Amino acid sequence: MGRKKRVGFADLQATHAELDRGELRCPECKRSVAEADGLRFVPALGQTESSLATLSCPRCRTMISIRFIAAH
Ligand SMILES: [Zn+2]
Repeated sequence: MGRKKRVGFADLQATHAELDRGELRCPECKRSVAEADGLRFVPALGQTESSLATLSCPRCRTMISIRFIAAH
């Protein structure tokens, strides 16, 4: 077996507004993450707007799942 850096996983909850304002941060290294970092929305059946996205942190490679919640 080769040496493989262990990649962490994290879950976040956020609103689209928080993403747009750049307020999301990687829970592991606290780097701010944004759509430009390769965020991908996961298609959801029966929904016009995806509520789930994935992103890997450019700094520490943690796989981050973002569940979008309704703004209030
Ligand atoms: Zn990170």
